[in-house]
Amino acid sequence: MLVEHMTWEQYRDEVARRIIILPVGSLEQHGPHLPLSVDVVIPTSLAKMVCEELEAMVLPPIAYGYKAQGGGQLFPGTTSLDGTTLINLTLDILRETYRHGGRRFLVLNGHYENVAFVTEAVQLLLRDADGARVVILSWWDQVSDEMVDELFAEAGFPGWETEHAAVTETSLMQYFAPDLVREDRIIDDQSERMPKYSIFPPPDDIVPESGVLYKATYASREKGEKLAKHVVGAIVQMAREELGSGS
Ligand code: ZN
Ligand code: MN
Repeated sequence: MLVEHMTWEQYRDEVARRIIILPVGSLEQHGPHLPLSVDVVIPTSLAKMVCEELEAMVLPPIAYGYKAQGGGQLFPGTTSLDGTTLINLTLDILRETYRHGGRRFLVLNGHYENVAFVTEAVQLLLRDADGARVVILSWWDQVSDEMVDELFAEAGFPGWETEHAAVTETSLMQYFAPDLVREDRIIDDQSERMPKYSIFPPPDDIVPESGVLYKATYASREKGEKLAKHVVGAIVQMAREELGSGS
């Protein structure tokens, strides 16, 4: 149920009764082995899986995100939006979809730095969108402690801030888009230091040259499949409880 593949008549007949999923990502470096689109591919692929279990439809994703924290912006290709641009882009899309009859929305986020800005867009939408109900959800927040223990049994869990282009994102990409993963370039790496504050402009020793922040060699397609199904299960349960999905 991809909106971009629907006709306007199909859209008209479905928009009010389905949960509308807006994937939001980034164009951001993800090491030597993953494409710039990781943060878009993951939530969009999860959204498609959710549609197999729920009455939902997926809007074309927002393929750019807010500026990467730490040294992410130092890498060629990391192409980011100003906060006001992301707020307005998200708000325009939600408002138009509301105007067409959409009422139940899931903003499915794949890039940590987007959260405050999509939240602001939803706050602005709700000022004059009677009956709208919106959930904002980042996929990694749906991963249970038990699943973390299982996925990181060998590597050890470094915390989600450091899980960039590493075990979970690489595994999910091996499952969702194996053709986009350069298997021979998967490496383990880490920052020389991880300050608990933000420095502007960012010095280059807070991000390793590779762009990989942890142990990507511990990734596997099997872990990706298990994780994807786990997260989709959590999203479906959330949607039934919070967005009142009947099916
Ligand atoms: Zn990412
Ligand atoms: Mn990201």
